[in-house]
Amino acid sequence: MQKHLDSILIKPAGPDCNMNCTYCFYLKKSELFPETKVHRMTEEVLEEVIRQFLAQPLRELSFSWQGGEPTLMGLPFFQKAVELQQKHGSGQVVGNGLQTNGLLIDKQWAEFLNTYKFLIGLSLDGPEHVQNKYRYLRNRKGSWSRVTDSAKILLDEGVAVNALSVVNDYSVRFPEEIYEYFKGIGLEYMQFIPCVETDPKDSSKLAPFSVAADAYGSFLCRLFDLWLADFKEGKPTTSIRFFDSVFYIYAGLPPPECTLLEECGNYVVVEHNGDVYSCDFFVEDLWRLGSVLSGNLVEMLNSKRQKSFGEKKKTLSKDCMDCQWLIQCRGGCIKDRIGDPQDRHLSHFCSAYKMFFQHADSRLQKLASDWKKEQAREYQARQQESLKERAGTQKKIGRNDPCPCGSGLKYKKCCGGI
Ligand code: SF4
Ligand code: SF4
Repeated sequence: MQKHLDSILIKPAGPDCNMNCTYCFYLKKSELFPETKVHRMTEEVLEEVIRQFLAQPLRELSFSWQGGEPTLMGLPFFQKAVELQQKHGSGQVVGNGLQTNGLLIDKQWAEFLNTYKFLIGLSLDGPEHVQNKYRYLRNRKGSWSRVTDSAKILLDEGVAVNALSVVNDYSVRFPEEIYEYFKGIGLEYMQFIPCVETDPKDSSKLAPFSVAADAYGSFLCRLFDLWLADFKEGKPTTSIRFFDSVFYIYAGLPPPECTLLEECGNYVVVEHNGDVYSCDFFVEDLWRLGSVLSGNLVEMLNSKRQKSFGEKKKTLSKDCMDCQWLIQCRGGCIKDRIGDPQDRHLSHFCSAYKMFFQHADSRLQKLASDWKKEQAREYQARQQESLKERAGTQKKIGRNDPCPCGSGLKYKKCCGGI
């Protein structure tokens, strides 16, 4: 069966960025595009991506703008993008997400982002000492004050903002401080991305800023307790993407985070020049699927190459196949296997996941079971409501009549007995 493409990641400024973070894995991608020093998407490429993506018969589609730093394109580029979405859309619900380091955000940007309901992922690792450890401006100064100013501008304008925090060897020591800090400045939606890279100077070693698995496991456990302690009347008051995604699995639903799926390959990345790749972490020649200027996005998503990329994740080690957490974990993201030079065909974060699921399993089960009961109650209430409405317009249902809900039971034993 042909897959549809419901989400697309676009890098309009390629790997170009106005910051110089120590652990950025994308800056070096400029080697893939040596023809020019500055990488910018043309209007021709932009229109072709939008046209092809919105030509699909889907009700909901989501654009994710990333980099490098996508705001380097300037506001007119994004105004044009929205105009083209309106031109090529046909009544679908279209979402836009923008991942940014925030440096160029001003009031005019914020007004635009709020008007068109962009969801912002702001790269902010945490409080000043955490952010300034590795996230530098081009002049090697820390970026914290500039980024927090941007966060304020966005939040004051009413823009929806997620904090994107890279968990590294340093920040992993401060789960509580980082969580409270984000809450304190109004960033209640948080995403934590553990960092694992090979040392560029010695490929047999991990880069020094990578986070150790056990430390990351403790970080997740502490964060989970903090998240849970903030529940009010059984509902979360903050959102942590990894926990939200894991909760989907416990509730029997497909998780939104690709790392927790059985297979990869459900979206594609479009670079500034129109080249299409399998995944943000695999923008490399081997996983180049074609170009939007000469090929079709949906065909590339369904190509042999993308299928074989997707299946890489499915090929798990014996450890994973025998693991009690396989359904919840699915072996994690394949880049976390490859990023570790000791690649044992097992995620670098395996022990972190084991620690976390051991810690959180019973409480996640309880949350999921409470949620299912709540869903069933709401469903019954809706059914009753619609029965009442129908009863008002139809003849009265006798207690011994068959229940109109179609269960085959008598009305008094079914909806009439509630
Ligand atoms: S490699 Fe990782 S990030 Fe890429 S699609 Fe697979 S799980 Fe997702
Ligand atoms: S916890 Fe470890 S062994 Fe278990 S599925 Fe995840 S990565 Fe594999």
